[in-house]
Amino acid sequence: MAREPNFEDQAGGVLPCIVVAKFGGTSLATPERLRRVAERLVSMQRQNLSVVAVVSAMGKSTDDLMRLALSINAHPPSRELDRLLATGEQVCMALLAMAIDALGACAVSLSGRQAGILTTAAYSKAHISEIKAERIRAELKAGRIVVVAGFQGITPSGDITTLGRGGSDTTAVAVAAGLKADICEIYSDVDGVYSADPRLVPRARRLEVISYEEMLELAASGAGVLHMRSVEVARNFKVPLYCRSAFSDEPGTLVREEQDMESAIISGIACDRSESKVTIRGVPDHIGIAAEVFGLIADSGVNIDMIVQNVSAGGATDISFTAPTNDLERLRPALDSIVGTMGVPGYAADAGIAKISLVGAGMRSSPGIAARMFHILAKEAINIDMISTSAIRISVVIDAARASEAMQALHTGFDLDSEQVFEETSLSNEELAAKMLKGR
Ligand code: ADP
Ligand code: ASP
Ligand code: MG
Repeated sequence: MAREPNFEDQAGGVLPCIVVAKFGGTSLATPERLRRVAERLVSMQRQNLSVVAVVSAMGKSTDDLMRLALSINAHPPSRELDRLLATGEQVCMALLAMAIDALGACAVSLSGRQAGILTTAAYSKAHISEIKAERIRAELKAGRIVVVAGFQGITPSGDITTLGRGGSDTTAVAVAAGLKADICEIYSDVDGVYSADPRLVPRARRLEVISYEEMLELAASGAGVLHMRSVEVARNFKVPLYCRSAFSDEPGTLVREEQDMESAIISGIACDRSESKVTIRGVPDHIGIAAEVFGLIADSGVNIDMIVQNVSAGGATDISFTAPTNDLERLRPALDSIVGTMGVPGYAADAGIAKISLVGAGMRSSPGIAARMFHILAKEAINIDMISTSAIRISVVIDAARASEAMQALHTGFDLDSEQVFEETSLSNEELAAKMLKGR
């Protein structure tokens, strides 16, 4: 990493190299882990870096807050829910600042509002619209380690918002972009981005580098290691991202702009079990019908994917698409109205599906990847339900019960297997972290 000062503040002063380091909930789950994170941050500052830490809520406390809210009201008002969930990160930031203070260094914790993180008003899925970084800059200039609460921001009218589950990654990248930081480090319980989720594919390999475009496709296809918006912001503002382990000093994965010469044909495989397949049966096959059906669906505000329309038999056809299972309730009025007004016989939703995606920038120049993928699945007698592609991704929908076999077969079939086996696949995040902290 370059050590030259890169950032001039408005008064013309110069700050040393700026690092934004984000820590996830597992890395901060206990007082002991908070202390370790504090030690890491203090040691970074002693290497003459300006350090901004972005924190998630401790352990599973966001889930706990969510359960608490639902125990009071099955449909909590979205403004109040965001207000509540944002407190998880605020507890954590204050404790981390105390842990840093206990080590004899100076720290200040800032909520989303104090850190100048402005967002849209879309509760539970707000987008960051601006970072007013003056306060963070001033605190860095005063020699403090700045601890920012992730996952949250504030609307122009002063209401607290959250960025969606996993959104602290996006806070970190946006803060790094706002400060023109030299690097944004994402610390978690894995030491980087792997060719597949190592808990699903024990022979997954750690990637040394991956391009923004590939990481974006992987994140959008269910690879939970990075929040999708964080990769979008990193790409748009050219923030280099380094994903690494909070529990060791092992090398991690650099996410950066594509370097043509190095493009792997396949970089990774992802699995997404969060979607359902919806089939509308016997839709009349005439001009304008798809516009009508999908117009009603669009009005529900639900994002759908992978549309398949069969050839009509007897003037009627089935139309299928995928949608997040969590959004099915919101979709239901639109589907009921399609059945009510278009005279179709009915619809069905199947949550037992998995979407498996192959991602690789080298696909652009290597024909035949889809055929090879389908061949590998056919050899395992796995039926493909739906297919969609982009320039660097091929996705198939299959029976969820076969997802694990499909992932392993494709990983081996595309020569991605590593010599080493990731042994901790059956461990929970908590158990894995405990084992790593004990020195393995
Ligand atoms: P944090 O709580 O620190 O944000 P996450 O749980 O969100 O951490 O992300 C880390 C997890 O992402 C890992 O434990 C791993 O199971 C999962 N994961 C999914 N796909 C991948 C992948 N391709 N590479 C690495 N980890 C992955
Ligand atoms: N605490 C939030 C969540 O659990 C945000 C995050 O961890 O990134 O989703
Ligand atoms: Mg995460």
